Amino acid sequence: MIYKLYILLFFSSVLLAQIDTSLVLLKNIDSTIVQDVRYATENNFTHTVLYKNNKVYLRKIVADSLRKANRYFKKKFNYRIKIFDGYRPLSVQKYMWKIMPDKRYVAPPNKGSRHNRGAAVDVTLVDSLGTQLNMGTEYDNFTQKAHPTFKNLPKQILLNRKILSDGMQKFGFHPINSEWWHFDFQGWRRFSILDVVFD
Ligand SMILES: [Zn+2]
Repeated sequence: MIYKLYILLFFSSVLLAQIDTSLVLLKNIDSTIVQDVRYATENNFTHTVLYKNNKVYLRKIVADSLRKANRYFKKKFNYRIKIFDGYRPLSVQKYMWKIMPDKRYVAPPNKGSRHNRGAAVDVTLVDSLGTQLNMGTEYDNFTQKAHPTFKNLPKQILLNRKILSDGMQKFGFHPINSEWWHFDFQGWRRFSILDVVFD
């Protein structure tokens, strides 16, 4: 009898793990998050189209948490999240590293980026008219001005960055030192590096 219980526990934990970690389309979890997938266009630092489609994929739990963060920004500020990048195939990471071999901005492919695990997001906020809030720099600005610790900026910009960072942290997304737009999801180590390419 007891071994049956063990088997049941084993399979239910496998099932739960799958639910927890599968890659999902963000649009299906929250269609109100604005999507601007720069790597699916030439409008990115590589000036090359890196993704075959402009869909954002994330681990299920990461997408669910981003939906909660978006709801918080809507309720509290009438803002919405705009996402530039989520899951990124390892092959794309290798290409980026060729162009920008600087660890502060691009993770070396042998280590892998948290984006390669489907456990990181690049985001900003838009107001009720869909206009991006001024965060002081553009996305993928590889200068000190984009560092969250850079404080020589107008008050409103510092406030915008604080609203984004504080809100994201409430839902398990941790900021990094070099990019105001990048957030790692808590426990990202438990998600493996993937090289799934979606058509
Ligand atoms: Zn990022």
